[in-house]
Amino acid sequence: MKKVTVQPPLPTGRECWLDAEDMRWAAKHWAVRIGVKVPIVVIRQMRTKWASMSLGGRMTLNTDLLTLPKDLGEFVIVHELVHLLAPNHGKVFKSFMHAYLPDWQGREKALRQRERASLLAINKQANARSRDR
Ligand SMILES: [Zn+2]
Repeated sequence: MKKVTVQPPLPTGRECWLDAEDMRWAAKHWAVRIGVKVPIVVIRQMRTKWASMSLGGRMTLNTDLLTLPKDLGEFVIVHELVHLLAPNHGKVFKSFMHAYLPDWQGREKALRQRERASLLAINKQANARSRDR
């Protein structure tokens, strides 16, 4: 008789990315859902931010996101895509975020907490200091 291993289900919202392809697929999926142009997704090491979006439709995601729970990466992806609809973080931006990710504020908070404990925060500060000079 075949041995069947039953994997316990992962807690929802705290899942991890399978790989870079999984995260790339999520970015494309969210673009379709939001109704913006599907971006070219580049995943690479970034020193001072989680992600960036060019108006030409290129989304760059920090490889560090792969080490965080999926819901945080999803927040970053949706944030960048919503920028195609609203360039700043004003009222319009927030209403789109509420529409697509009702719990986005909680996710943002969790991401900031992770950030404070990571190298990204150190790099961000160093970057701000060199800009001030
Ligand atoms: Zn932004």
